[in-house]
Amino acid sequence: MGGLQQYIASLPKTEIHLHIEACVSSASYHELMDKYEIPHDEKTMSLTDFSKIGSLTSMLESFYFVQSFFREPDDFLHVVKDVVKYAQRNNIYYIEAFASPSMVLNRGMVSFDQMFATLVSGFDQAEKETGVDVRLIVDVSRSFGLKNALTNLDHSLGFLKKHPTRRILGIGLGGQEIGHPCREYEEVFSRARKAGMHVVAHAGEEVGPESIWEAIDLLKAERIGHGTSAIQDEKLMKRLAKDRVPLEICPTSNVITKKYVPELSRHPIRRFFDEGLMVTVNTDDPVLFSVELNEEYERVATQVGFSRDEIVTLIKNNLMSTFLSDSEKRVHWKQVEKAVGRA
Ligand SMILES: [Zn+2]
Repeated sequence: MGGLQQYIASLPKTEIHLHIEACVSSASYHELMDKYEIPHDEKTMSLTDFSKIGSLTSMLESFYFVQSFFREPDDFLHVVKDVVKYAQRNNIYYIEAFASPSMVLNRGMVSFDQMFATLVSGFDQAEKETGVDVRLIVDVSRSFGLKNALTNLDHSLGFLKKHPTRRILGIGLGGQEIGHPCREYEEVFSRARKAGMHVVAHAGEEVGPESIWEAIDLLKAERIGHGTSAIQDEKLMKRLAKDRVPLEICPTSNVITKKYVPELSRHPIRRFFDEGLMVTVNTDDPVLFSVELNEEYERVATQVGFSRDEIVTLIKNNLMSTFLSDSEKRVHWKQVEKAVGRA
């Protein structure tokens, strides 16, 4: 499939569902381990060897462990560097990515403002040097309850007031979906919307279609992270298609976390696409899950049966689902069309 591989690699792309912390390489973690004299023993080595991850539990265990290595603001420059490298490897020029402050703040070593000031200036600099434009969505998180989410929103609004920047787009709801329904976060979302922020939510990844209904009707989420369980609800699929609500599908992630998708060939992305839903392809946690965006498109082509033209439509859907302006989208799409013509 060399031809297909080259074809996909040659097309400029965007990505709208990515966690920046899950892009950090083992090499960066080992540098931080050396810096803080964290022992390279059997336990730490196994938790920093991401090739061993095969479930959501082991993913979270590694994720929480390696997050504890970020102890000074500048440590987040590793995140910036690795996200940009990931983008370059996959011919991605624009990313809207989640950044999760909850664990960082809980440890109390780096403040919200320090974390985001480092990320914003780091990505500003990286854009100047590489052209890769990374925007951030603050993951207010549902894992630690409403109060924590409201605190994250307050921090975000306070930060933007002090340091206005186009780099922070809004808020997202990530974390543990089971036991933390969307409806409990209505206040966070209504306040964020009133303040002019974009709002998105993970929904229907680990919980049934009711989670997606709540995300669109109560939270008024502009995009749905995953949305996999919509496949169980015909009425919901019709609504998502009618309103063109973008679904941020992460095919391999859904297989690894073993909830609604037993194998890639049975991923509902095919049915969603055929029913006219606004489907996009993303990686979620590229380094932790050892998946690159180029490979994700290749798998969708070879294992789920998307043609080359359909792959181009998925790439277009992704760009059109970003929070860029219509004129920016038009400019970028022209570049993609040129690349399709050359491929
Ligand atoms: Zn996610």
